[in-house]
Amino acid sequence: MNFKNVTIAGSGVLGYQIAFQCAFHGFNVTVYDINDEVLEKAKAKFDGMADNFKRDLNATQDQLDATLKNLHYNSDLAEAVKDADLLIEAVPENPDIKIEFYQKLAKVSPEKTIFASNSSTLLPSQFAEYTGRPEKFLAFHFANEIWKHNTGEVMKHPGTSQEVFDAVLQFAKDIGMVALPIYKEQPGYIVNSLLVPLLSAAMELWIKEVADIETIDKTWMVATGAPTGPFGILDVVGITTAYNINKMEAEATQDPDKLKLVETLQSEFIDKGKLGVLSGEGFYKY
Ligand code: NAD
Repeated sequence: MNFKNVTIAGSGVLGYQIAFQCAFHGFNVTVYDINDEVLEKAKAKFDGMADNFKRDLNATQDQLDATLKNLHYNSDLAEAVKDADLLIEAVPENPDIKIEFYQKLAKVSPEKTIFASNSSTLLPSQFAEYTGRPEKFLAFHFANEIWKHNTGEVMKHPGTSQEVFDAVLQFAKDIGMVALPIYKEQPGYIVNSLLVPLLSAAMELWIKEVADIETIDKTWMVATGAPTGPFGILDVVGITTAYNINKMEAEATQDPDKLKLVETLQSEFIDKGKLGVLSGEGFYKY
């Protein structure tokens, strides 16, 4: 299996990054979204991406010009997918939207097209039957700011063929990702299976007043050599995401420490506009 034409469905936060990354590495990319107005917005964001590639990867102007030439846009799904070897789905994290999308996609896609979902929290087996090609479907998960945080978690569902799994792993390498094979379905893939418990444990130590934020981070950094501690990571992830995850758990369990954590995140951070790195302050100032 040799990929040449790649279609990216959804041009939001992750979709346009994936499109640019594939185009930068020489693939012929078609970006699909619900209408031309949304696609125009995506086009406008590609200049900012070019700046990121210059700053972080020393990309040359020739490389960036070639990247833009490799990018095409289409809001007609049948047209957008008609030559696709691979379609990467980055539509909203909502099962109903994804199911409807795969049902439409299954009707208009050529037989050869492999489908890959970039979903962060939904498992591919949830959608496999709607794709009409479960053996040619899997998850391919990127991290935000994919050009620098270049993990490519490629995860099978029970029906994915080995050939397709291998081909997507190779493709991940071809677009500059560190290809990470995941043989069995796992909520959170590898990164979040490791990270979420670490961040939760750190917040528990803090809210129980076992130690303060700086000490918890310092302990982790000195003991493991990691450049950032859990609260530094939380500032990058964003306090709102931490709040949303913990709120669900607090409501479900009514655990007093979790409830206190959620209240504190709300009153001391969210209400004060301290949302993490992007707002200039979270647990730390930036
Ligand atoms: P987003 O809301 O920024 O973008 C979604 C895009 O999909 C929008 O451009 C929207 O117009 C488009 N869209 C809506 N309905 C559509 C449809 N029916 N068909 C085609 N396009 C449609 O979302 P995002 O943050 O880019 O997330 C997309 C996917 O990527 C999700 O599954 C998410 O879990 C995953 N993901 C996100 C991140 C992240 O940090 N944001 C990281 C890894 C993976």
